[in-house]
Amino acid sequence: MTMHQDLSQLDQLGPQLDRWCLEFLQALPQRTVAWQGRPDLKALALPARGDGSGVALQQFMASIAPGLSASAGPRYFGFVTGGVTPAALLADRLVGCIDQNVSTCGDSIAPLLEQQTIAWLRELLLLPDNFEGILTTGATSANLLGLLCGRQFAGLAQGIDIAANGFGNSRIRLYAATPHASTLKSAALAGFGRNNVAAVATLPNSEAMDTADLARQLEAAPDCAKIVIASVGTVTGTYFDDLETIADLCQRHGAWLHADGAFGLFARLLEHKRAWTQGIERVDSITTDCHKWLNVPYDCGLFLTRHPQLLQQTCAVAAPYLDTGDSNPAPMDRGIENSRRFRALPVWMSLLAYGREGFADLVARNCAQAAKLASWIDQSAAYHLLAPCRLNVVVFAPATGESSAFLHKLNLRGRVFLTPGVWKGKPAVRAAFSNWRTRNADVDILLQELAALARDQ
Ligand SMILES: *Cc1c(COP(=O)(O)O)cnc(C)c1O
Repeated sequence: MTMHQDLSQLDQLGPQLDRWCLEFLQALPQRTVAWQGRPDLKALALPARGDGSGVALQQFMASIAPGLSASAGPRYFGFVTGGVTPAALLADRLVGCIDQNVSTCGDSIAPLLEQQTIAWLRELLLLPDNFEGILTTGATSANLLGLLCGRQFAGLAQGIDIAANGFGNSRIRLYAATPHASTLKSAALAGFGRNNVAAVATLPNSEAMDTADLARQLEAAPDCAKIVIASVGTVTGTYFDDLETIADLCQRHGAWLHADGAFGLFARLLEHKRAWTQGIERVDSITTDCHKWLNVPYDCGLFLTRHPQLLQQTCAVAAPYLDTGDSNPAPMDRGIENSRRFRALPVWMSLLAYGREGFADLVARNCAQAAKLASWIDQSAAYHLLAPCRLNVVVFAPATGESSAFLHKLNLRGRVFLTPGVWKGKPAVRAAFSNWRTRNADVDILLQELAALARDQ
């Protein structure tokens, strides 16, 4: 079937797709959370002549749909994810339909809408408006941009334009206490090397940076330019580095300060937790994710910096950007990709649909659910709570036996899905709450599962 013929049958396929999507979403809470089959796609071959999208859709429904996970559903507690909201879902379908390339300005309203979306996110997260940035594919690429801007800043401090001429004889050191794995990956990608992030000590019984140790380490490297990566919510214990003190130290040593708040930045929506991010307005660059607690589809992160001209120098594609005071820079000069998805639209429509209160409510609800689980575990003889629950993640271990064997058994039952973590060097189990679909009844199901496995032990 030709593509033109295919277009003419869309009016029949559309309703079929709508029905399938609705049924999938409705059945998510009943679905086995993690797929337990074995991949076997070998029977499907690339056709010489295709039979059109109707046949492709049938093939998806028959062969692929049964192998999906219920990661968008209410009892997927792995990693830190989120389930697509109705507004984000509708917007994402529009994104495919309108297929804008948000690369340069001039042919579409899309780059302006991305700017407005970033301004709304700044407002939602209570960040000052001298932060500018770009929507990224996720927090990993936002962390990479943070290190690339820091690299440019550190190079210039030593008289070297690294984006233009490479590292030369620049000397740059990186520091972090509990970096997310993606920060180490970013250090690898940015040419520093994943083994060259100096480990700063943590405070006792905490994953937060020991700032006295940072002070000593910065002092000990007077000939190096420096980049400090702070955690705004570590992925296991949800600890927050002391940004105010770290910013003081960075100021004294001329260091770039990048803050990774992939999900933790959303703690700013809770008034009683806002003190944890005090000093955020002083950092040089910030990472957060929209495909986590904002519950838009993958792939959507946010990178912000107080130094947009450095971002511009780092990412400029063609002629160097001329600062004409034009507030509409080309997105491709501010990010990694040239051609870019209109990922702003699901964020923009979600913010319009649910507002600041909708998301503050979601964050509060998820934190209460995590607290409920933590308090049950704390009272249980069969499990140890390894760290107090501070935000939306619960870290625990079975009282007897290996965490990994326990986790395997739990996930195999199919009613919940949790992922492993490491707490103070020891294997642990993590349960993360960041999905709008999780109800308190789903926490009860998780408790039933934990109780059932405790009886089996
Ligand atoms: C999830 C996460 C990342 C990586 O984010 P992706 O969107 O998966 O690239 C980075 N840092 C922290 C703290 C995270 O929680």
